[in-house]
Amino acid sequence: MARDFSSGGFGGGLGRGKFKFDEAGGRPDLSRALLLRISKYFIPYWKQTLVVVLVLSVSAVLGLLPPILIQQIIDHALPDKNLRLLVLLVLASLGTTVISGLLGVLQNYLNSFISLNIVHDMKNQMYRHLQQMPLQFFSEVKQGEVITRMTSDITGVQSVFNNTIVNFTSNLFILVSTAAALFFMNWKLALLGILVVPLFIVPTRKMGNVRWKLAKQTQEKVSEQNRIIQETLSISGYLLMKLFTRESAEYRTFTAINAEATRLQIRESMAGRWFIMFLSTFTSIGPMLIYLYGGILFIQGELTIGTIITFVALLGRLYGPVMQMTNLYVDIKRSVALFERIFDYFDMEPVITDQPEATPISAAGKSILFDNVHFAYQPDKPALRGISFTAAAGTVTALVGPSGAGKTTITSLIPRLYEIQSGTISIGGTSIREFTLESLRSQIGLVTQDTYLFNGTIRDNLLYARPGAAEAEMIEACRAAYIHDFIMGLPEQYETIVGNRGIKLSGGEQQRLSIARVLLKNPPVIIMDEATSALDTVSEYYIQQAMHSLLANKTGIVIAHRLSTIVAADQILVVKDGMIAEKGTHDGLLQQNGVYKALYDKQFEPKVFSDPPVAE
Ligand code: ADP
Repeated sequence: MARDFSSGGFGGGLGRGKFKFDEAGGRPDLSRALLLRISKYFIPYWKQTLVVVLVLSVSAVLGLLPPILIQQIIDHALPDKNLRLLVLLVLASLGTTVISGLLGVLQNYLNSFISLNIVHDMKNQMYRHLQQMPLQFFSEVKQGEVITRMTSDITGVQSVFNNTIVNFTSNLFILVSTAAALFFMNWKLALLGILVVPLFIVPTRKMGNVRWKLAKQTQEKVSEQNRIIQETLSISGYLLMKLFTRESAEYRTFTAINAEATRLQIRESMAGRWFIMFLSTFTSIGPMLIYLYGGILFIQGELTIGTIITFVALLGRLYGPVMQMTNLYVDIKRSVALFERIFDYFDMEPVITDQPEATPISAAGKSILFDNVHFAYQPDKPALRGISFTAAAGTVTALVGPSGAGKTTITSLIPRLYEIQSGTISIGGTSIREFTLESLRSQIGLVTQDTYLFNGTIRDNLLYARPGAAEAEMIEACRAAYIHDFIMGLPEQYETIVGNRGIKLSGGEQQRLSIARVLLKNPPVIIMDEATSALDTVSEYYIQQAMHSLLANKTGIVIAHRLSTIVAADQILVVKDGMIAEKGTHDGLLQQNGVYKALYDKQFEPKVFSDPPVAE
């Protein structure tokens, strides 16, 4: 089922790690559609696949030869004292083994070639697909789940190919060829040998079920353990744990889960032990029956010794594949679950894509218009209800209002991080849907409260905005953002590593760095979410100067938290409950004595009389 993100259609299902472990015993849901979909990945490698099938069938037949050659040795070469025949048969036996070995190597190579190439193709496809997913996807998906699907799930496909598909085909060929050989040699003995098969099918299935259940429980414990690791050993989780002194509690939870996982794993491996003990008893019953009944036939002169020995040897080739195929359904179930998890992701449609007629458009010198825009993250919970305003080219619009009013949402809609439900957003009279996404986003510089810095050097972080930028341009941007001098004061200057998410820099420095990055990109539209965190006056001063550089001659939309920004804005929009409650300039709005006035009195008045910050 395709999912629709435009109306927050995740339904929460994603976050729960959709492991579709059915209760054991149920039929795996290997629908024809799923099979067809899986087989499509083999199309580019059909030649190699064909060779693998051929090699498997030849190997199955070759495997019959050594026992048959032994029969010839026992029944003919030895009684006839025929040395030439003996040497010939032994050499033939050796030859078969060597050829089988060589085929094995070829098959191994092809297995790896096909499976790893399919993994490679799927990874590329998944990465591209996830890049197209809307922002909401990443805010709703459980942490770590994307990585799991990209790595262990897709890599699991390799073992599905090697262990499930190849094993099944190989066992099938061995089974059919061996059964045919047995019946050809002596149908009565063949029937006797097959009679015991149900004896070990039943315990094999039973044990398979037990192991499946245990594996499922272990898997759950391991995921839980991974979740704790991810939550507590990441920067924010670690800080949270330390600040609330939850180490001992987290450690207790971790050790408890760890103990449970270990206990389950021991049980799982022991279930296997008992199982093998029972099976080896049952599998030896077949040969004993052959020796008994075959022996009687030999005494009656109906059978040769060679036939009895060959029969027993071939019986082993029959039982092995039967046992492996008995548990095949567990493998198939696991594989179906794996593919469903992968396809689940592929089926989520990136709703925000280029329209067919979209063209690259420039936003330079154009106004931004919101016309009666409605938007909801979740159905029936509107975040924006009829937003209309114009941000004229080259002016700064400040958004103010209580937390949760919808300010961030308004700014997220301009680069189409979310799709609006009704109304229009246009730039220079052209709906933003008619822009190609790439051109639209290239026109917008976003400075968020959370500064997205990656763990590289300051230079790497800056050049991410424009990889080809010259050194002088980079320095100019940093000067304009009032961060150059700070950077030059660092021991390694532009080569300084900023740490995970920029943790080695202060909040003010991070924000100035991200302003410099947007200055380097130099887009005509700037969207800024002013940091709410309290800064010292000097930092604040620098940020204000940096913002001034950033917004000069640009169309700016700023979620404003500082009075200075608000006062300097060309227009102020007071957002409340997803609507624009008031619109105007600072003075005009104060005179209206409405929502803005109340907000101003509550948030800003005490600061009005403070001295303007002074630079050092
Ligand atoms: P503001 O920026 O004014 O503080 P937001 O635009 O962030 O407000 O939020 C407006 C409303 O939308 C709030 O009720 C908030 O809970 C909700 N909201 C914000 N982001 C999301 C999201 N990704 N998914 C669902 N609801 C959201």
